Amino acid sequence: MEKREERYSGKAKSVYTTDDPNLLVLYFRNDTSAFDGKRIEQLDRKGMVNNKFNAFIMQKLEAAGIPTHFVKLLSDQESLVKSLKMIPVECVVRNIAAGSICRCLGVEEGKDLNPPTFEFFLKNDALGDPMINESHIEYFGWATPEQVAAMKELTFKVNDLLKQLFLDGNMLLVDCKLEFGLDQNGKLVLGDEFTPDGCRLWDKDTREKLDKDRFRQNLGNVVESYEIVGRRLGVDL
Ligand code: C5P
Repeated sequence: MEKREERYSGKAKSVYTTDDPNLLVLYFRNDTSAFDGKRIEQLDRKGMVNNKFNAFIMQKLEAAGIPTHFVKLLSDQESLVKSLKMIPVECVVRNIAAGSICRCLGVEEGKDLNPPTFEFFLKNDALGDPMINESHIEYFGWATPEQVAAMKELTFKVNDLLKQLFLDGNMLLVDCKLEFGLDQNGKLVLGDEFTPDGCRLWDKDTREKLDKDRFRQNLGNVVESYEIVGRRLGVDL
């Protein structure tokens, strides 16, 4: 496999084409962004930690029957993935209230959400990733009703699997954001990444934040906290 030109550069990852049109290289940079990219900082080791963390989680999910785009780790900061036609929506599932559900709906942080809530957001930085509903997704052709139903079902399944995985490491999966795409056969597959950049994780006993809220809220020890999470799960960092 030969890595070729950069196809796309996001806020924390860059995507490169390869000599195989169905495979891409994801390069996890040290960039850490918040507030729709308005604040960006370089954090040492973050690319490596997130790349290995993501590989660990994607492999766990595959093993549990969730189709993902992950193929294999290539290096400290690179992974090989299947090329997907991404659906431009974010699927957010919440087990405990934090973040935008508190800000937008006045829910108290820390409230248990059982059964979990589910929200769709449009991936559009210029619009600030607004919350959307199934009617918008279908009306504007971002996904079919069948794909919408499948994204919800897979998101809840991933949440169930990972809630338990993190609980085994004495952590609470507060919420997470997933993105899906279609592979070359039109099959819906989990894409993007699963790292502490895109989910909230709290220590079960102290409720200490161990995710990107440490960066958003200037709590310090961002990568150190990601490493604590990784070590508790047994990720080889
Ligand atoms: O901000 P909000 O509370 O809606 O975020 C819910 C979850 O989705 C959080 O874990 C957050 O890190 C993640 N998220 C993300 N990328 C976004 C928006 C939210 O990873 N653009």
